[in-house]
Amino acid sequence: MNFIETRGNDGQYPLEVSFSSAILSPIASFGGIYVPEFLPELGTEFLQKHINSSYKTLAKDVLAAFEIDIDADVIDDALSLYDEFDDATNPVPLVRVKDDLYVSELYHGPTRAFKDMALQPFGVVLSSLAQKRNENYLIMAATSGDTGPAALETFKNRANVQVACLYPDGGTSDVQRLQMVTEDAKNVKVIGIHGDFDDAQNALKRLLGSATFKAQLKAKNIHLSAANSVNFGRIIFQLIYHIYSYLELVRQNVIVSGDKVYLDVPSGNFGNALGGYYAMKMGLPIEKILIASNKNNVLTQLIKQGKYDLRDMAVVSTSSPAMDILKSSNVERILYDMFGAERTKELMSQLDNENHYELTATELSQFQSIFAADFCEDDEGKQYIKDVFADGYLMDPHTATCFKAYNTCRDKSLTTIAYSTAEWTKFSPTIANALTGEEGASDIDALQAIAKKAGISIPRVISELFDKEIAQKTIIDKQDIEKEILAFL
Ligand SMILES: *Cc1c(COP(=O)(O)O)cnc(C)c1O
Repeated sequence: MNFIETRGNDGQYPLEVSFSSAILSPIASFGGIYVPEFLPELGTEFLQKHINSSYKTLAKDVLAAFEIDIDADVIDDALSLYDEFDDATNPVPLVRVKDDLYVSELYHGPTRAFKDMALQPFGVVLSSLAQKRNENYLIMAATSGDTGPAALETFKNRANVQVACLYPDGGTSDVQRLQMVTEDAKNVKVIGIHGDFDDAQNALKRLLGSATFKAQLKAKNIHLSAANSVNFGRIIFQLIYHIYSYLELVRQNVIVSGDKVYLDVPSGNFGNALGGYYAMKMGLPIEKILIASNKNNVLTQLIKQGKYDLRDMAVVSTSSPAMDILKSSNVERILYDMFGAERTKELMSQLDNENHYELTATELSQFQSIFAADFCEDDEGKQYIKDVFADGYLMDPHTATCFKAYNTCRDKSLTTIAYSTAEWTKFSPTIANALTGEEGASDIDALQAIAKKAGISIPRVISELFDKEIAQKTIIDKQDIEKEILAFL
């Protein structure tokens, strides 16, 4: 299958590209991104056939439906990384919280957050492509806290790739920061910037589109690529767990195959939700996708009112920092899928130039036939963490936002799959505060308090972070990023 551009073609880029080209160079004409030229139809037999499949077998068949130009042995290598998750036979456990609410836990990989679901296999695929083409790549990532550790983890010490990772200094949890700054592999550079996540993401987008930066890299024989979820190489791996979780509901006799369910997704850059949308378009029986946000509630506005308006908005820091995002990159792929390239270009240029756009009434109703949305304030989230813990389930503040959407967005009594995107260990001060009422604990004290209260232990990959040496000390202004990266290379 080939990949085409969300904002149409400008005559400079090819009209269509292979999967491997789309993941090596993810930015397309007019600043657009790549999408599959069509979505394969899976059909009801597909679900029937995979009722008892392992995660890897299901994944292989979903990938096969896209007919991507990646060798089978590379795909096998990539998918074998799910064997390193906590339970190789069940990398994405589905846990019952109430009769009609199940949580799909996406955080059982090496960095304890859902970014591993896609980045683990993606690292293998990208490095193998670079080696096969005998090319060197600089992979850039901008992170609000979880992409960075997951990108470093997947690319460290891999051949033909170097990584430059930008994070907002002060905008991540201690554990997230330590996961990045203690990384000492020679092929990675971690850069803290004075600013928020949108500053980091804008800097990344600017460098990816900068001809002079590319020319300087070319002089060093290096190509440029990105590991953010604008990269379709990540999205394709995020389709699979939606299907797997649905099948898990069937296996646990909660539903029968064909029954509709709600997906309830804590959303930032919309990669996770987009995976659900594509799965739905490919035939997974989904009633609606609930989009949960925190106080940075642009997605709630968009889905409730049809307005994407950043004119009076500034990012606010919340206790779910991986969702502190205003420019949600993957919404563009929904616009494309619903309204086509011409309209997408119009809306996205207006967003880029004037900081807002508005859907027509017809377009909005199209959105609302698939999505519903609500946002959750930090205090409400804390209450959910406390109440749900009292009922026997421990969750992080991102996952908590889903409980608000679960309560307010459903109009049918169907089973809901809520996605848990981070382990409790990554945002422990908020959780400790919710459970014990104590304020201001450091990460390590909070981890110990929760472990004691819940009668569980802190995973070693987390506890040992606090004794590791800081290898990455750079913290700079955003205008110095380019210079810093060139010096590293
Ligand atoms: C990245 C992330 C999200 C947001 O996911 P998107 O795919 O960007 O919408 C939510 N929660 C956690 C913990 C994350 O790391």
